[in-house]
Amino acid sequence: MILVMKNGATQEEIDSASNQIKTWGHDVSISKGEYQTVIGIIGDKQDLAGKALHTLAGVDKVLEVSAPYKKASREFRPEDSVVDVNGVKVGGGHKSIIAGPCSVDTYDNLILIAKAVKEAGATMLRGGAFKPRTSPYSFQGKGEEGLQMLAEARKETGLPIVTELMSEQDIDLVYQYTDVVQIGARNMQNFALLKEIGKLGKPVILKNGIASTVKEHLMSVEYVMSGGLNDVIIALRGTRTYETAMRNTLDVSLIPYMQKLTHLPIIVDPSHAAGKREFVSALGYAGMAIGADGAIIEVHPCPSCALSDGDQALLPEDFTYFMNKVNRLEAWDQKEWSREVGSMQNSKLNG
Ligand code: PEP
Ligand code: MN
Repeated sequence: MILVMKNGATQEEIDSASNQIKTWGHDVSISKGEYQTVIGIIGDKQDLAGKALHTLAGVDKVLEVSAPYKKASREFRPEDSVVDVNGVKVGGGHKSIIAGPCSVDTYDNLILIAKAVKEAGATMLRGGAFKPRTSPYSFQGKGEEGLQMLAEARKETGLPIVTELMSEQDIDLVYQYTDVVQIGARNMQNFALLKEIGKLGKPVILKNGIASTVKEHLMSVEYVMSGGLNDVIIALRGTRTYETAMRNTLDVSLIPYMQKLTHLPIIVDPSHAAGKREFVSALGYAGMAIGADGAIIEVHPCPSCALSDGDQALLPEDFTYFMNKVNRLEAWDQKEWSREVGSMQNSKLNG
């Protein structure tokens, strides 16, 4: 349920409505738009039956969230959410580029990559220590040793780290090291894992599944949020379709489409979409141009030596080229982008 407050409702009215809802045992999420404040009520609507929500002072409308994903939906929270990772913000006009190797291999490579991507303007460092591989005989990741290397790279560069969590049994270990937990395509519907990480405090990047729909992806986001965590970043890495030209098919139009449905930041992963180095920059650029809140990109100084996904790794100098292009784009993109989302919010609230 959501309460749309009257245009010009006072802070006292907002506080008083929120406090009343809390005394009924529900948490609230307050979203202050330019014109109206929306109070999202967390919990089962049955428990609110018989409560005279519309009589609370300052309330204009009481609405049900029509989307099946509640906390993730823009109805629940019209304002953009900003995920803050140790001071690095993603969403709400803050763009963040995450870069690094597919998998962590050697310390020297990792430090070299971390320094190069930082220099180029990346704001977070990625690197897998637990790798989901199609073959059990392929390199599976360095495990804790890889996590330790990532922590060293964070110390050297100050970049927050992003690494994949594959199973519930690794939660304690991965959470000891990482700043952001990545859930990959293969685990998008590992509901037990999603529920567990939703109870923990670290921001999560949730990629879409191998062949998932937008709705399934957002329902998985809702699984994470239902545990209490609000800091979820959605990543689009393409899906398997009839087309086999690229590793996956990336529909960049889903970026503005999903921004209408959810308040959460949406980033693009052109590396796993393209699968080939030569297309990664262009796809990433397309994603940023259409309004993504960031990108996650694989970079390696020696792609042929990389232990996974070498074919799609950008060389550090290619990554610098990509960043320079994106930085020029952002100068105008941010204004366009916020205007569009703003007008969408207003039409939703007033309509
Ligand atoms: C990765 O980020 O290296 C990865 C395995 O990605 P995905 O889950 O998108 O395949
Ligand atoms: Mn990879």
